[in-house]
Amino acid sequence: MTDFDLTKLLAERGAERYELHARHLNHQLPRMLRAIGFDKVYERGEGAYLYDAEGREYLDMLAGFGVMGLGRHHPVLRRALRDVLDAGLADLTRFDCPPLPGLLAEKLLGHAPGMERVFFGNSGTEAVETALKFARCATGRSRVLYCDHAFHGLTTGSLSVNGEDGFRRGFGPLLPDTAVPLGDLGALARELRRGDVAALIVEPIQGKGVHPAPPGYLAAAGELLHSAGALLIADEVQTGLGRTGEFFAYQHEADAAPDLVCVAKALSGGYVPVGATLGKEWIFKKVYSSMERVLVHSASFGSNAQAMAAGLATVAVLEDEDLVANARRTGELLRGRLAALVDDYELLHEVRGRGLMVGIEFGRPRSLALRGRWAMLQAARKGLFAQMVVVPLLQRHRILTQVSGDELEVIKLIPPLVIGEREVDRFVDAFRRLMDEAHRGGSLLWDFGRTLVRQAVANR
Ligand code: PLP
Repeated sequence: MTDFDLTKLLAERGAERYELHARHLNHQLPRMLRAIGFDKVYERGEGAYLYDAEGREYLDMLAGFGVMGLGRHHPVLRRALRDVLDAGLADLTRFDCPPLPGLLAEKLLGHAPGMERVFFGNSGTEAVETALKFARCATGRSRVLYCDHAFHGLTTGSLSVNGEDGFRRGFGPLLPDTAVPLGDLGALARELRRGDVAALIVEPIQGKGVHPAPPGYLAAAGELLHSAGALLIADEVQTGLGRTGEFFAYQHEADAAPDLVCVAKALSGGYVPVGATLGKEWIFKKVYSSMERVLVHSASFGSNAQAMAAGLATVAVLEDEDLVANARRTGELLRGRLAALVDDYELLHEVRGRGLMVGIEFGRPRSLALRGRWAMLQAARKGLFAQMVVVPLLQRHRILTQVSGDELEVIKLIPPLVIGEREVDRFVDAFRRLMDEAHRGGSLLWDFGRTLVRQAVANR
């Protein structure tokens, strides 16, 4: 028997992690992490916390870009995955109909009245690719509309409906799709008049900058689309599975009626990559229109037993622990406590979002002293003030967060849905201290700001 020993391998070579990345993977990742002092060595994770080699505890308000909806290593997930391995199933036979995909589809559809069928893939971008293909096939049209600043993944089809030039540059030509401003029904109606639109794809809350669609937009956009014979695709890859305080974020709007819904990230339980595209039966019937077309859209690893077990266990935990309600409740507490600071700190402009998807936006201060400092940062690069807060949140307060997109003065919080008052207290307390320091003109913080300016200028 091969004496492969993972524990031994990690013990022997784990310390080479940054060098291995620099040598064999995307070399810019270790470079960037070192530049901003994020080059930590996390050894372990549990719930909403990470632990470094010295056993120090970090509060994770990033949740692996939303993948860790249940936090890390939920015991129910661990048990389900052990069980599925121990069962020795005849998985991925391909010429049979195993029970787990059917059971997970049944569960997901139970949370999405109006949706009737599910396709399982392996990631968020694949869930989006599926929706784009299904919309084209079902309508017989090719053009997909998307919103300015949208993010739907980075494979070529998803990239064609990405609203940021920075992501698109260098990869063209992409599909000839068209952007409309989020919330602009007039622009949508104008595009629909051309008669070639298959669908509009939209994030109910845009991940970049944390911008919720205006109230009523999804329902009204759906009506316009349907009357023009086009479809509404809700991309719930980040917002789905309870993050915003409803199982799906489009459900905040009673009349929102998407035709296709993309799901991924948290459905993995933080363990097994998975994507799901939920849709109307008539759409699936157009795609799989004859027996010859049974494999016309499929994926080798789609519906694999580990992913399905992780998905089933994830939904069971969401239900049993009432995590959707917890996201609503704890999110309100967090946003309320942060919003109460807006009047105290002139650099803090707005706190927005829904449930546990929160954006904290900074902006130009009123007072002369702070205006000079703000202008210094802005002249070098937009987004540096948010960076100036995110870095000491990690370095000094051991809280992991992110700037919500390139050149944005917005911090995004998407913590695991299991957080409660203790974590809200810890975050708000740390954030308030940093705001105090920034507004007092504290030299430690602003010296760091000057370092960021020098780095930004050197990188031009
Ligand atoms: N759609 C949205 C709204 C996302 O936020 C993301 C990822 O951040 C994706 C799609 C792509 O998901 P993945 O990274 O699993 O391909």
